[in-house]
Amino acid sequence: MVIVGNGALGLFLADELVERKVGSVVVVGPSHRDAGASRAAGAMLGCFGEVTSESLRTDASRTRFELGVQAHSRWPEVLRKLEEHSSTGFPLQTATETHVVLNAIGAELDTVNFEAMLKALDEYGKPWSPIDPADIPGFRPRTDARALRAVHLHDEGAVDARGVLAALETRLDAAGATLLDQTVRRLTGNADAVTGVELEDGSIIEAGKVVVAVGARSEALVRTVAKETELIPTFPGLGFAMIAKRTAGEPFRSVVRTPNRGFACGLHVVPAGPGREYLGATNRLVDDIASVTWIADVRYLAQYSMQQLDEQIARHEVLQWLSGNRPVTLDGFPMIGWLPTSGLYLMTGTYRDGFHCAPLLATHVANELQGKPGTIDPMFNPVRQPIQTRTVEASVEEYVQHNMAAWFETGAEAAPQMTTTQLAAYYRARGTEFYEKIGSGYALGPDVLWYAEGSLVGARRVARYLRRVGDAPSLAPATSGIGESR
Ligand SMILES: Cc1cc2nc3c(=O)[nH]c(=O)nc-3n(C[C@H](O)[C@H](O)[C@H](O)COP(=O)(O)OP(=O)(O)OC[C@H]3O[C@@H](n4cnc5c(N)ncnc54)[C@H](O)[C@@H]3O)c2cc1C
Repeated sequence: MVIVGNGALGLFLADELVERKVGSVVVVGPSHRDAGASRAAGAMLGCFGEVTSESLRTDASRTRFELGVQAHSRWPEVLRKLEEHSSTGFPLQTATETHVVLNAIGAELDTVNFEAMLKALDEYGKPWSPIDPADIPGFRPRTDARALRAVHLHDEGAVDARGVLAALETRLDAAGATLLDQTVRRLTGNADAVTGVELEDGSIIEAGKVVVAVGARSEALVRTVAKETELIPTFPGLGFAMIAKRTAGEPFRSVVRTPNRGFACGLHVVPAGPGREYLGATNRLVDDIASVTWIADVRYLAQYSMQQLDEQIARHEVLQWLSGNRPVTLDGFPMIGWLPTSGLYLMTGTYRDGFHCAPLLATHVANELQGKPGTIDPMFNPVRQPIQTRTVEASVEEYVQHNMAAWFETGAEAAPQMTTTQLAAYYRARGTEFYEKIGSGYALGPDVLWYAEGSLVGARRVARYLRRVGDAPSLAPATSGIGESR
């Protein structure tokens, strides 16, 4: 069996298969992992800290959210297995707790998502407690960016993503799996059946089963053998983060983050081993996968970390600049399952919590590869109709809210006499105009709408796809509560 892709998804799957002794397992992926998401990840084991007002609003999004809840319980065992293979010199788990802070830098969206998080914690019976922001170790923002509220999530921490990937490789190597430091040029076979992969050096590896787990590059790789398969389009969500050495002030001892906001995963700091802190992260959907960083994103992360997290961050020494591409699907849901091409399996679309979910997804995929029943909902099948969770009107309003949050968060300025209502009206008009132009009734998430509205390439791709799949699929039902969603 060949797994293409050496990110979190590919390696956790390989680990699961090797543990089940399924025979020969080959993982192909370049050791530099250029432009990959996993190498750039926080990697917060975030579940409730990631909640937004959308997370539990429909059955579909609740099912997606519950992947994170289930994944969370896997990590203690995962870390126990990996620790002995780690060479970082410090525990792979770099934080065991999270503090979520609500400040007034963004817009109302921050408050809405903060409240949604508290509601979800209570609904799922998870522990949390309010805390005075001044009592959060390391948290020393500028006075004008101080937090108004903060909560302590007792049970959400983070791991060293790069350390976990390295430990997985060491463990796989010790267990006899083959790790090839190579890139796959194309899949071999035809649309009916895959027969293996061709590497960049021209050599061929034959295999009856091929798993494509190359993150944001997955769709293009699948197309090398299955040109006509109608997949949900995937876009790269380019993200930037830094690992820096603290030179002054009290270190952070927990993840400290804002709620998800303004098209992104919130501003956060993650302890990254002795004397080091990870600052993250930006998110912008782009036309092409790249390992570059936008200067605007460098400015954003540097300035707001010093202002909103700790003024002493100004004196941090940057050790690593990280950029990676999150695999973002048009409907925002993962794509996990067999493709119509016999022997070909796709595993991607995990967006902003794929590191956290990887061990859980590995169990499901290993089951399916072995012909056993899967462990997650079949709704994530990659050849589905796009999942619809909102109306076009709601999509435009959500887009307005995210733009407002991003506007204030990034320090954008309008003429002083321009009111926020006028600003919102401007974005509302842009969103509405986009839907009139593409003439589709399918309602996009705010990030995909932002991208398609601002990129000709993106707009054409979205419009062509929606034209091909026809009328908008029916709206996912509003959520019915815990345990009643399936
Ligand atoms: C800045 C940032 C911060 C994030 N923070 C978090 C977080 O805190 N928590 C969390 O859970 N998630 C986080 N994520 C999201 C998470 O990283 C992704 O959802 C997840 O890592 C995706 O894993 P993957 O294995 O599918 O893809 P990737 O990590 O992108 O891995 C794909 C791999 O395939 C390889 N590859 C590509 N093309 C080929 C080819 N042709 N042949 C062979 N190999 C190939 C690449 O080198 C790469 O290593 C973050 C992402 C970013 C960018």
